[in-house]
Amino acid sequence: MTSSSDPFAIQGQVVTAESGDEYINAISRASHFSILKPQTIFFPTDFADIPPILQYAIAQNPPLEIAVKGGGVHCSPWASSEGGVVIDLAKLNHVSLSPDKKAITVQGGAVWGDVYKVCQEEQVDVVGSPLWFVGVGGFTLGGGYGPLSGEYGLTIDNLLSAVVVLSDGRIVTASPTQEPDLFWAIRGGGNQFGIVVQFTFKTHPLAGPFSVGTLIYDGNDLEVPQVLKTIQDWKANQSSKSRLSVMFIRPGPHFTPKILVLPWSIGPNVDEVLSPFRENVKPLVNVIKSVPDLFTLSHGSDASFAHAPKRLIIRGGFVADLWTDMFLEVWKRWCEHTEGNEDVRSSGVMWDITSPSKIAEVGESETAAHVRKYHHWFSVQGRSHKNSADDLNKAFVSSVASYIREFNTHQTGEDLGVWLSMAQGDEGAEAVFGANLPRLREVKARYDPIKLWSKGVVIEPDFNQL
Ligand SMILES: Cc1cc2nc3c(=O)[nH]c(=O)nc-3n(C[C@H](O)[C@H](O)[C@H](O)COP(=O)(O)OP(=O)(O)OC[C@H]3O[C@@H](n4cnc5c(N)ncnc54)[C@H](O)[C@@H]3O)c2cc1C
Repeated sequence: MTSSSDPFAIQGQVVTAESGDEYINAISRASHFSILKPQTIFFPTDFADIPPILQYAIAQNPPLEIAVKGGGVHCSPWASSEGGVVIDLAKLNHVSLSPDKKAITVQGGAVWGDVYKVCQEEQVDVVGSPLWFVGVGGFTLGGGYGPLSGEYGLTIDNLLSAVVVLSDGRIVTASPTQEPDLFWAIRGGGNQFGIVVQFTFKTHPLAGPFSVGTLIYDGNDLEVPQVLKTIQDWKANQSSKSRLSVMFIRPGPHFTPKILVLPWSIGPNVDEVLSPFRENVKPLVNVIKSVPDLFTLSHGSDASFAHAPKRLIIRGGFVADLWTDMFLEVWKRWCEHTEGNEDVRSSGVMWDITSPSKIAEVGESETAAHVRKYHHWFSVQGRSHKNSADDLNKAFVSSVASYIREFNTHQTGEDLGVWLSMAQGDEGAEAVFGANLPRLREVKARYDPIKLWSKGVVIEPDFNQL
């Protein structure tokens, strides 16, 4: 440790169970499954506030667990602690653009809305989240698939450097030339190497306006295969400028199964993206609008998230293709799960069809995020208001995510594993990090030999190579 100052005297806020509503607000997360009750929550406002907090937690007998919160959106309890310490980075959310506008520097507790606000004002763009409330920290450390990934790759492929607080209290810069192994590891290796208090990303020219569609199809036996065929055909000729999100939903008032297709594209050319989706099968809802920029785009789903049940569990991963048998089997299982049980009918399945060509330009061992061959991502989401539905939803999410993973492995001969950003922590480090796990274990031994970062998908240090 390099500092011995009192963590309770930091410039930022310190919250405990005695703080009343402040404590309730501070432990709140996007998913109720992520809420635990820590002893103390520290809100640092300065990077130098953090080493004394680490020192304090380590010095207790027994030492206190340390959890780090970015945006608090991950559907696991990794950014929370039962009885330990939470370092909530929410007040470290400053964003600034370099004078030449080619790089944007973002503190580790910012959410993407903070970044897009500056981008909007300064007329630049960055590869970030489709949703404003997602934390830059967790999103980036898990790779980061965003609206501009078809054009510019993952968020980590646009990361120029980072400032990291290590478990021994040192604050270091990681880049291709400074601490290069650490820089490699944080690009997909998650929270296992330190607290990233600052990211510097490459910027791009303003991409908007975007054409954004909302199409809803009836989920009858005739139309579902037709919608899927339209998606498959569209995907075969997909441009890097366009993307589809496909979701299984049961909207009110009748709550019958529907397929929601959200096509969007850079530029105002609506017809190019939408015509097959309007002509091949007639959608029940057929809306298209022009959205000026990512800030506005990232607020597009605010109304639906405001009402979405907060008992949310997600598991997700990658698929090399949207095979007919797999898609229809998942559709069938989702229909069965959500049929006749209003407590679980908000549960869904989502397929993200972003052009993977740019992502695949980076080699599998170039960053810790190893899934680089042609792929798309999916997420299976259990949502409910009631805890009586938890077991059903958890079983559904586990079984469908496993089914998709196994189907993909069977079809391609390659297991694409589990995505850290949508993992639950019981999958094992090999499933998440694949062939990059041995190198990650070596880097862990150098940068966190005491395993201070012990939440999430834990990487065991390998001291043999030191
Ligand atoms: C509705 C929804 C939609 C999503 N859509 C996408 C998407 O389109 N693309 C995509 O790539 N992902 C997506 N995700 C996944 C999302 O990126 C991850 O859940 C991510 O971890 C959230 O980051 P956070 O900072 O908000 O989370 P948190 O819960 O705060 O943190 C998640 C993990 O990261 C760690 N962490 C956070 N910040 C830091 C930091 N600065 N330094 C060190 N460790 C840190 C935490 O300790 C924790 O282990 C989505 C998730 C949800 C729930």
